[in-house]
Parts: sequence; structure tokens; C-alpha cells
Amino acid sequence: MGIYAERNEFMRVVLYFSLDLDHGLMARLIASFRSRNIQILQQTPVESIGFERATELFRQSPRNADAVIGFGGGKALDVAKYIAFLSRLPYLSMPTSLSNDGFCSPQSSLTIGDRRHPLPSAMPFGVILDTAVCLNAPEILWHSGVGDLVSKFTAVTDWKMAFHAMGTPVDDFAALLSDASVYQFLARPTRDLEGMRLLGTALLLNGISMSICGSSRPASGSEHLISHALDSVSKRPRLHGLQVGVATYLISLLQGQNSRRIAGLFDATGFWRAIASDPFDRAEWLEAARLAPSIKAEFYTVLSSRDCLPEIESALHSDSNLQRCFR
Ligand SMILES: [Zn+2]
Repeated sequence: MGIYAERNEFMRVVLYFSLDLDHGLMARLIASFRSRNIQILQQTPVESIGFERATELFRQSPRNADAVIGFGGGKALDVAKYIAFLSRLPYLSMPTSLSNDGFCSPQSSLTIGDRRHPLPSAMPFGVILDTAVCLNAPEILWHSGVGDLVSKFTAVTDWKMAFHAMGTPVDDFAALLSDASVYQFLARPTRDLEGMRLLGTALLLNGISMSICGSSRPASGSEHLISHALDSVSKRPRLHGLQVGVATYLISLLQGQNSRRIAGLFDATGFWRAIASDPFDRAEWLEAARLAPSIKAEFYTVLSSRDCLPEIESALHSDSNLQRCFR
């Protein structure tokens, strides 16, 4: 890390890190800064993703830093990215797991009240991704990353449907980039060092595709609306990518595209098995599906094309893949 900071003349940095970060990793990071004479002006553990707390941390941050660094899981990175955005400083993102595409995206997901909201942020100046560190993270985080990645299939289809139904502009380059990143991972969906590199690269390209077109469309469609709704109606919301992954398969049935491909990937990666070991609540999902179309104004998706609720209810009960995901 030190070498990348030094190369860009970030000699004074502020660091936000996950509360439960491995001590050995933290020691390695600090040693790497010291070896390049980089001064850590402040280092703060991130315990909450509340908007209020993030703005308080921003007010407490030193004014003479050259860059902000986020180190750890999604929460620490979301907070660090937002503080960097408020401070108008370059942000370096160092994920220790690949549970979603947030480590390289132009948004921060913070809570206001008890609900998570996507807030505008700047794209990271750089991402430093250690595949060995990510491989060491719990397997469920990898499943979550796979779930978030595969949603690009349904997001891009929703985007094209919005173009045909409403004239929503589609950026073809962003759509192609998003699409291509998934296929690269599909060709080799293995949880090893090379697999981490492929998943990391794919998620990173998703973030870049959002920034190219200035919209979340290439990475987020109706499957994300269902996940956002679940975050507010569910008694126990799960990891973003686990919710999004199952919602992606469900939406692919409504769109009539890619369902087999997605189901095959979930078989190969053990995603279905992971969900079945701690199934979702069917009633909560039906409620989330009912709320989903009203979550974002003027955001046309397959859910806007017709009343999808009867189809969703039937799929949750009778589709052989979905049956094992619900109780
Ligand atoms: Zn996502």
C-alpha cells in the first residue's frame, strides 16, 4: 500500500478501517506506510454506517490530509468513501472481501433513520485488492459478491426494457462492459486466487460502468429494488448480495432470460446451498416485491411492465430452485 500512496504523493493520509479487522493485516498496512515515510494523521475504526456518524467523523477529520484510505469490509469502505467525497480528497479503497461492488462505485450506502440509502460519492482514486486476503474472508461474503455480480444480467435487461417502453437512454458501452464482466467470471467461477481476481475485476468494472454513464442502471435494476425493499421490511436483512442474487434469479424468470445460466452458476458456486442453510421468509419477500416498483420514481423495470405479483407468488412456491431458498 505504501508504495501506491507514495507514488501519488499521498504522504499524509487518514485511515478508516473495519472494527473487526485482523490485527496482523492492520500491522502490515501500518508497516508498509512507515517504510515509505507516510504519516497516518488519524486512524479510526468504523462501527456504524449511520449518515450522522459519518458526517461527525468528517468534521473530526484533519484538514491537512492528502488522501483518505478505507480498509476492510463494506461498511468501513462506504464511510471512508463518503468522508473522502465530503473532504474532496482522493480516496483509496482496500477491500478485504468481495461481498458487493461497493468497493469501487460512485455511491456510498449509509443509513438514515433505520434505512440504508445510496448517497452520491466520488469514484475511488484507486483500488488495492489483495486476492490472498479476500480469499481468506468467510465464504458467505464470496457468495454475496457472486450474487451482486450476477444481477448485471437482469439490470441490463431492465435498462433495455426501459429504453423500449419509456425512451430511457441506454449507454451501450456501459451496458456491454457490465455484461462482459459477468461472462468473464462465469467461465471460471472458482473460489481460489484466480477466481478472486476474476470476481474482483468484474465487480470493479461494474463500478466503472456506472461511472461512465452517470447512472446506476448498468449495475442495478428491479432485483436491487427488491433487495432495498427487503432492507426495510425484513426483521433480519441479510447480506446485500445474498438478497440481490436470489432476487436476480426471480426477476430473470419474469424477464424470460438467463434463468438457466444464473441457476447453473449458483449450483457451481454453492450459492443455493448457502441460502438453503438459512432460508428467507416468503411473506417478507412478497411484501418487498409489492413495494419494490414504488421505491424509485421514474425507474422503469420489468416490475412496471405488468402486475408481476401473481407470477412472483407462484415462483416462490413452485420453482424448484426457489423452493429451497424460502420457509
Ligand atoms: Zn449491488
